[in-house]
Amino acid sequence: MITRRQSILVLPSFALAGCLATADNSGLIRAASTASKALSLTDDEVRGYAAQMAKKMDAEAKIAPVNNKYAQRLTALTSGLQEDKGLRLNYKVYLTPEVNAFAMADGTIRFYSGLMDMMTDDEIRYVLGHEIGHVHSGHTKKRMQTALSASAIQTAAASSGNAQVATLANSELGDLIVKVVKAQHSQSNENEADDYAMEFLSRRNFQRKAAVTALEKLDKLSGGRESNWLSTHPAPKERAARMSSKLV
Ligand SMILES: [Zn+2]
Repeated sequence: MITRRQSILVLPSFALAGCLATADNSGLIRAASTASKALSLTDDEVRGYAAQMAKKMDAEAKIAPVNNKYAQRLTALTSGLQEDKGLRLNYKVYLTPEVNAFAMADGTIRFYSGLMDMMTDDEIRYVLGHEIGHVHSGHTKKRMQTALSASAIQTAAASSGNAQVATLANSELGDLIVKVVKAQHSQSNENEADDYAMEFLSRRNFQRKAAVTALEKLDKLSGGRESNWLSTHPAPKERAARMSSKLV
C-alpha cells in the first residue's frame, strides 16, 4: 500500500532525477539512459555507496554527542555488538522525535531518539537485529542495484569499463537515500528481516519476546504519533502475531 507520506518522499527524487542532466558536479556522463539492464554490484561497491549515503545523512542530522544520555544508553546496550556475521557496526543516535532506525550495508546503524524513548533495551536490540537482517538478506543490495540501474550512473560505469565506486553527487545521493533507505519494504522482506532478528536475539542471549512487544508498540503508534519506521516497515500487528507464534 502506498501511503501519502511515501508519495511525498518519493516525488522529490523524480524531481531531482530530472535535474541531473544540467546539474552535474560528479564528472559522470549524463546520457538520458532509460536502460533497464540490471546493474550488478559487488559487495565492496555496495558498501562504498552506503558509506557515501551515511555521510550525507549524518551531515544533515543532529547527532547525539558521546556524553549525551541517548548516546551513552546506545553504547551500553550495544556492548559486545561491534560486529554481526562479519559486518562491522558503527552506531550513532539522531536527536529527533521521529520514530525511526536504519542500517546500511557498510555497517552504519542509526537510531532516532524518538524510537529509543518508547523502547526497552531489548526492544531496541530487536530493531537492530531486524535492520541488520535487511542488510544480510541482500535487500539493501538489491534496492541499490535497482536504483542505480535506473540512473545515469550505470551509463558512466559501463562506459568507463571499470567497476570502481563512483563518487556520487549530492543530488544523486539524495535520490539513492530515498530509494534505498526510505522506500517501503515488501512484506516478505519484512518477514525475512524479522526472522533474522529472532535468530540474532537468540544467538546473543537476548529476549526474543522483545520482538513481539516492540512490534505491538509500533502497532499502537500507527493510529497516533507519526513513525517513519512504520512507513518503511509495514504491518506491525501481523508481524507481532507471527513473532509471538515462534516463541512457543
Ligand atoms: Zn524492515
